[in-house]
Amino acid sequence: MYIAMVSSECAPVAKVGGLGDVVYGLSRELEIRGNTVEIILPKYDCMRYDHIYGLQITYENLWVTWFNYQIRCTVWFGFVHGRKCYFIEPHSDDHFFERGSYYGFPDEHIRFAFFSKAALEFMLQSGKRPDIIHTHDWQTALVPILLYEIYKFTGMENCRACHTVHNFKHQGIAGENVLWFTGLGRPDYYYDQNRMGDDFNPSAINFTKGALLYANFTTTVSPGHAWEVRHTDWGYGLGHALHSHQNRFGGVLNGLDYEMWNPQTDPHIAQHYSVDLIDRKYENKKALREKLWLSHDYKPLIAYVGRLDTQKGVPLIRHALYYALAHGAQFVLLGSSPESGTNAEFWQIKHELDQSPDCHLEIGYNEELAHMIYAGSDMLVVPSMFEPCGLTQMIALRYGTVPIVRSVGGLADTVFDIDFSDKPNNERNGYVFYQCDHYAIDSAMQRAIGLWYDYPDRFRELMLNGMKFDYSWNIPGQNYLNIYNHIKHS
Ligand code: ADP
Repeated sequence: MYIAMVSSECAPVAKVGGLGDVVYGLSRELEIRGNTVEIILPKYDCMRYDHIYGLQITYENLWVTWFNYQIRCTVWFGFVHGRKCYFIEPHSDDHFFERGSYYGFPDEHIRFAFFSKAALEFMLQSGKRPDIIHTHDWQTALVPILLYEIYKFTGMENCRACHTVHNFKHQGIAGENVLWFTGLGRPDYYYDQNRMGDDFNPSAINFTKGALLYANFTTTVSPGHAWEVRHTDWGYGLGHALHSHQNRFGGVLNGLDYEMWNPQTDPHIAQHYSVDLIDRKYENKKALREKLWLSHDYKPLIAYVGRLDTQKGVPLIRHALYYALAHGAQFVLLGSSPESGTNAEFWQIKHELDQSPDCHLEIGYNEELAHMIYAGSDMLVVPSMFEPCGLTQMIALRYGTVPIVRSVGGLADTVFDIDFSDKPNNERNGYVFYQCDHYAIDSAMQRAIGLWYDYPDRFRELMLNGMKFDYSWNIPGQNYLNIYNHIKHS
């Protein structure tokens, strides 16, 4: 099968969060299974160009009609760790992707609407006719709409669309101008509730809702979250639309790229290890402590890695830090927030704890340090308010780091409490709490720290249980192929 992934991220070349990991990992798995996969991305100026091999111009003059004029684009090709990637570079005064960061601009909808149209135009003009066009999140959610309203009539009638929602909080809510820019026009037609009309704002179109109605199949990133978005507030207003179209909506648990995240080969960690050589993990704890100037006392090391977004439970992350320090543990945090206020708050904590030999906060994005933290920590906290899938807990499991998570979405699908799960003992792999108050996380952390000190053998069993799980792309890759086959023949 021939699959085109159209996405705003792909790890490690353009990654902000899990979306980038998923696009890379799923593409690799599909290729291993004999499919042809091409990834189409914007050519951001801030990408990790050191991860692209053989970057060269492949298509010089891609003219994209935009409102009543045309924008010329250059399309580049390069390999990202073996994946075939096309990068679209528009030449316009808007400098859509030359702004020093991936997201966070007032014309965000216009930037990605342009990218969505340019991606289809590239396929059309270069003669690419993928069986499946797989799009991801609101940034590329206009692709299925453009495909079925415009490009289908220009020779792309056999392409099918699969859309994945990685985060329902961001849906792409925009005004009429997007319709005129992209050439869709006809506001009365698209504002209809059965097309792109937002259910709660009559003067807005909703990209994600549009994708849901136009794509042949829509997924979200875990079965647990697929249930939540239909039955609770976590659908952020799309519950009704999801219910109405539930025959072509489902949850597929994300996988983890087992080549990129492998403690046996990881180039960023001090000492390689595996289930059989678990003792070597402690060399990584030592190395991490040395790097971050932490003391080498006999204490567990607890970590947080991730965005400092309200979704991630910022107050509980902060609380976990102080709880760990007050209860005989060390704490390492790696993360940053798009909100300057949240960053400032964590900078303040960093200054306050500057002299502590038990704590380090790294406020920013650092891929290499993330690998060292997963390998060097004993436990990882993930106290999310909602979590469509979550990759950090799966990475932690792979690295023998015991996750302490709140039971939501994909976290509930992947972490099973040592004391309270209904799973057999050898499938219990971490600590789970339910409420979003301090007492809940306290009790989970207390149990985890207690086990580490009092029953180290049992704690080690828990680490090994986690490492033995298969959260690779093996099963989800097949699930996606089943969906592709289903929509291809429907
Ligand atoms: P989300 O997609 O909501 O950000 P996920 O748990 O699905 O969360 O994926 C997060 C991914 O991004 C993981 O690979 C994690 O290691 C990585 N990550 C998040 N923040 C940072 C950071 N500050 N530095 C390095 N890697 C990070």
